[in-house]
Amino acid sequence: MSLMFGKPKPCNFAPVPERSQAVCNLVLLGVMGSGKSALTVKFLTKRFISEYDPNLEDVYSSEEIVDQQPVVVKVMDTADQDGPVNSERYLSWASAFLVVYSIDNRQSFEGCQQYLKTLTLHNKALQPETPIILLGNKLDMDRYRQVSKSDGSALASRFGCLFYEVSACLDFLSVQRVFHEAVREARREGERSPPVPTPYISEDKALVGLSSAPSFTTPCYKELPAPATAKLVTVKSSRAQSKRRAPTLTLLKGFKIF
Ligand code: GDP
Ligand code: MG
Repeated sequence: MSLMFGKPKPCNFAPVPERSQAVCNLVLLGVMGSGKSALTVKFLTKRFISEYDPNLEDVYSSEEIVDQQPVVVKVMDTADQDGPVNSERYLSWASAFLVVYSIDNRQSFEGCQQYLKTLTLHNKALQPETPIILLGNKLDMDRYRQVSKSDGSALASRFGCLFYEVSACLDFLSVQRVFHEAVREARREGERSPPVPTPYISEDKALVGLSSAPSFTTPCYKELPAPATAKLVTVKSSRAQSKRRAPTLTLLKGFKIF
């Protein structure tokens, strides 16, 4: 009899049993005010929020089709008060991270670095790596820009992540493209990861060799629903759907969309 130890990092896409959908978990990180919630809502509803609860943190789920593949995308819109201090809740949950700053706010850009350091450290310790995308938001505020595109790009290169600039209040497709890319990155990472060799101990507790740990044979997919048919559900609470108040339609918990 062999005792297993050395637990490999699980692929954070749920394995895909026959006839069920792949699941992909996206986590939005960044300092308060960078536009994480606005981007989340834009992606899920094609709309720009005008009122929000800055302290709201929740996970939203949306059934989508991306690259002809159905996938349940779960989006965690975080609301850290003090940077990546209590990061455990998302580090092992995430399939990919979107680290957001606002191009018109240098401080929000500086704030990203702490997140990138934390995530890179996490990635170094465990395989497979979780993809990270650096995202400069509020591109519509270009005339008030405090962070150049080249600064964003340089920071992304330093941490080996992708980089985009978008606006939550401009076109939906640019925002969707970024979320889709996060899905694809996570999928690629899942496909790249070979079965994780796991050492085992024999009954006399001597390390005797390696055995192949069970690996996911199905790639980790994260796919987004067609926006028009997206089904919005808060994972933690069903209250979201019941908050309808004329003339404001609350589609997601805490988000009022006029
Ligand atoms: P969070 O704290 O990161 O979730 O930031 P929010 O999504 O709550 O956005 C903070 C503020 O920035 C809100 O007043 C939003 O309306 C605004 N905002 C978010 N995204 C954009 C954007 O792309 N352009 C502009 N002009 N404002 C934005
Ligand atoms: Mg928010």
